[in-house]
Amino acid sequence: MEPITLSPPDARKQLAAQVKMLAARNGLSVSAITSAEPFPELAGFMERHIEAGHVEGMDWFTVDRARFSTDVRNLHPHAKSVISVGLAYWSGPAEKPDDVPRGRISRYAWGRDYHRTLKRRLKGLQADLEELAGRSLDTRILVDTARIVERAVAARAGLGWYGKNANLIVPGHGSWVMLGELVTDLDIAPDIPSEKNCGKCTICIDNCPTHAIVEPYTIHAPHCISYLTIEERGPIPHELRPLMQDWVYGCDVCQEVCPYTGAAKVVDETDMQPASISNQFPCLHWLLRMTDEEFGQTYFGTPVPRTKRRGLARNAAIALGNIGTEADIPVLALTLREHDEPIVRGHAAWALGRLGAAAEIRACTQTESDEYVRQEIDLALTNPAR
Ligand code: SF4
Ligand code: SF4
Repeated sequence: MEPITLSPPDARKQLAAQVKMLAARNGLSVSAITSAEPFPELAGFMERHIEAGHVEGMDWFTVDRARFSTDVRNLHPHAKSVISVGLAYWSGPAEKPDDVPRGRISRYAWGRDYHRTLKRRLKGLQADLEELAGRSLDTRILVDTARIVERAVAARAGLGWYGKNANLIVPGHGSWVMLGELVTDLDIAPDIPSEKNCGKCTICIDNCPTHAIVEPYTIHAPHCISYLTIEERGPIPHELRPLMQDWVYGCDVCQEVCPYTGAAKVVDETDMQPASISNQFPCLHWLLRMTDEEFGQTYFGTPVPRTKRRGLARNAAIALGNIGTEADIPVLALTLREHDEPIVRGHAAWALGRLGAAAEIRACTQTESDEYVRQEIDLALTNPAR
């Protein structure tokens, strides 16, 4: 490529067009540009969000952190532009293949960890831009970070608009898009924010299984299945367990029901494809019996290890309590007797209570020594959630 000499304003626009061409060449499905100007209007919104308890349990999400994130120059002082990019990953409808009791893993976590994929492609874009500019650039690559207001950046860049389910809706892809950013000292002509919005639609709000979308654009994270299955390390609140359906890692309901995601283009993104059925619809019995080695072999390199083996097994116990039948009682009883993690034994007791297996729970009352599991056993016997 010939190095370019920049002279405003046409060169800035020309550069914007070249950036998008290079982003596409590096496997980035969509890209758009905004300036590095701050987002002061978001500070108050995020403070109210924190005060209302919507991010309770995420100790890193503080008011100071929220304020910091509203100005990208706090992170990268010489920034002039932010290139917002997206990796689209809708691969078409998918159904459980058989009658085996299986859980569901959120679509973004089926394949390789998208953080690595996006970072690799953004590095390719950075190298191409340096060649184009004929100098090394002062840049920073960001993927899934709370250090900038990622979706607001994407919305101001016109990549899409902020949906009532708090996802970015990207024309042609819906919300099946993982976001990343290249912050740079290059002065690139910004794109125009989208004028689209959700209008009167409330489908995602009406269909959220746990009613976690408490108002448009606001997710109460402690009630969101995505937070519960991935971030929550302890017992899942009893009142939420029956609402969690068969999700064992994340939840896609508010995306699946959205008319814009329903119209998404199928993309051939190998990195986002599951290596096996266990990365997509894992057998719940297997999750309850899974060894550390099996967990590592199946999920290493995907986003799933974030929840750890015990988290996934805990979630499997809840899923069996929700979709299981009499045929699932023996494996739950075995889990209650023998699983090495108290958190999993406790949730197995809950699931057995749900399936009406009082005898199998009672069989463990003399042998269980863990105080937390004993409490779950008592509750499952005295007040089984049906
Ligand atoms: Fe509700 Fe699931 Fe969306 Fe969370 S991810 S807001 S639980 S539909
Ligand atoms: Fe917006 Fe409707 Fe999609 Fe929710 S389901 S994000 S309200 S368009």
